[in-house]
Amino acid sequence: MIVKERSDIMDRYYTYKQYLINKFNDKTYKLPIQIPVTCPNRDGTISHEGCYFCSEKGTGFEAYSSMVPISKQLEMAKEKVVKRYKAKKFIAYFQNYTNTYLPVNTLLTYLEEAAKENICGLDIATRPDCLTTDYLDSIKEFNNKHNLEITFEIGLQIANDKILDKVNRGHSVYDYVNSIKLIKSYGFTVCTHIILNLPETTMDDVYNTVKLMNELQIDIIKLHSLYIAKDSVYGKMYENDMIKISTQEDYIDRVVEFIIHLNPKSAISRLVSRIPKEDGIFSNWDQSWWKIYNEIINRLEEEQLTQGCRFKE
Ligand code: SF4
Repeated sequence: MIVKERSDIMDRYYTYKQYLINKFNDKTYKLPIQIPVTCPNRDGTISHEGCYFCSEKGTGFEAYSSMVPISKQLEMAKEKVVKRYKAKKFIAYFQNYTNTYLPVNTLLTYLEEAAKENICGLDIATRPDCLTTDYLDSIKEFNNKHNLEITFEIGLQIANDKILDKVNRGHSVYDYVNSIKLIKSYGFTVCTHIILNLPETTMDDVYNTVKLMNELQIDIIKLHSLYIAKDSVYGKMYENDMIKISTQEDYIDRVVEFIIHLNPKSAISRLVSRIPKEDGIFSNWDQSWWKIYNEIINRLEEEQLTQGCRFKE
């Protein structure tokens, strides 16, 4: 696998890896955790179908079963990354479904279980409409004792209500903005997930989305290329030829435009999505993620572009 050396790409964009080194002064890795929780967009509260790109498994393909105790999940995940990357510090990543869609005391029990030796941060993935002040008050109180880096990972996908509607997100851009303002008022870190090539997305949507990220001073951005998961609504649409996916070239153009307009202070944790072969029907134009990734980096290098080179305060 030929992925560009990190030292080569460091100048082109602010990598999440560098962000973690700046924050924790050491090699730090995220360990996915799964807890028994669902999502209001799946259990019928908002809808039964879920977001059209979301598989029945959710998005945490690498996580262990939620039946496995958290300490065991962490231990097993840790073993892998210590061997492979010589990692020293870890973030427990509550990744799958909507992790604040359960009573706060239940989540606190899980957080407590995770907040053990070598864990320097907790990442909690959730929806923008599933956080309240009561909830955040309790997490803040919990963290007064633990003093960990708490990050909320919030999906927006794209700053266009019509597209959010068509993909059945069940929330608006306005909901997203309110939730980010609320989380930031508590001093927590925010990571936002973006899909730059949902059907009907235009370059204007890309510009509007990056502008919103800059206005809200999002700390970390995770960019995704659209994949088609089995057991998703998009999966059925794809098999019936009802969905048009952007070309690879278009996706690369969008990522490049996003990066060069993004405030250089925001870290980027991903440029291209991945899905295990057995879970996907379409992914990255039938190429490895790193080929697309390398093309993005090559474009930035060839055109001497860097993150934020077109960013205006
Ligand atoms: S909000 Fe997240 S977990 Fe829920 S359906 Fe959408 S992608 Fe899946």
